[in-house]
Amino acid sequence: MPPLSFAWLAAPSLATRGAPAASARPPRLGAHSRSPPLDSRLAPPLPRPALHFCCPSCGLPLSSPSPPHELRCARGHSYNVAKEGHVHLLPPSRADPLRVQHDQRLAKASRSFWESGGFASPRDAVAAEVARALAAGGADGPPRLLNAGCGEGAYLRRLWEEARGAWQLCGTDENKLAVRYAAKRLRGARFAVAAPHRLPLEAGSVDAVLSAFAPAVGPVREEFLRVLRPGGALIVARGGSTHLEELRRLAGAAPWRPPKELTQGFGENYCRVRTKERVEGVALESLLQMTAFVRDAPPERQAALQRVVESGGMELTVDVIVSTHRIWLGTGGEPC
Ligand SMILES: [Zn+2]
Repeated sequence: MPPLSFAWLAAPSLATRGAPAASARPPRLGAHSRSPPLDSRLAPPLPRPALHFCCPSCGLPLSSPSPPHELRCARGHSYNVAKEGHVHLLPPSRADPLRVQHDQRLAKASRSFWESGGFASPRDAVAAEVARALAAGGADGPPRLLNAGCGEGAYLRRLWEEARGAWQLCGTDENKLAVRYAAKRLRGARFAVAAPHRLPLEAGSVDAVLSAFAPAVGPVREEFLRVLRPGGALIVARGGSTHLEELRRLAGAAPWRPPKELTQGFGENYCRVRTKERVEGVALESLLQMTAFVRDAPPERQAALQRVVESGGMELTVDVIVSTHRIWLGTGGEPC
């Protein structure tokens, strides 16, 4: 797919951001003048500013000059934009070589698995639910969606197809290589390397957060509530009780446990996709590397799983629950 880009990708300049256009001013009403018709007294709505990242050092909006080689805040903190289009916004820290190695393996396995075209039905269900939730949310402009924990972008690419350019899409993940893969394949979205509990976005700035097979509890959940506008939606995709049960048995993993907090309680909407898919070859090998309970399995179990890969693959249960939780006034900051 050729890289695609849209006008909203250009971040607003710091000088003009938020300043109302002259034509947007409400008309001045003199005490003795005849009242104009009601319609002419209403100021036209301001164009919705594009979603932009915030500086991880000071929290101010990040803006980009043209061409956008870097993002810069009003205090002069600057961040390089990679050639793939993403930006690194994690606070500086010492690299843990084991963590880096793990992240790289995971990113490569994910890319390889999703390139095989597997598990299309849960991605279709997520895309349909995001469309429904955004339509029900009544955004006053092109809806803004954050996919937190976007990995190598499989869900965002599906959302891109669904939106056909009508949504502002943004993805964040702590895995640097995965974000690079994601940005390389989808130029129509913004990507940042960032932690889920410290998102580089303003309070109340997004209409929906999608968390698909990624953390969504504790401080991460609190951060989602911060960046969502009142009336925004948190959409969570999780494995159901029978998801990959065949792998779970072969790996000798602990029984499935219900998810905590949001996904367990009340929600605006709930849908469940249950299907069987045959997975084999590189796709199965990649899936094994992506699956935490397989990685944690004892060596003899892993060897047994490897024999399944070599003998032609297996049929797997795909069981995914998508739940939507609407955030009302009192959380999520002010709408913008
Ligand atoms: Zn700054």
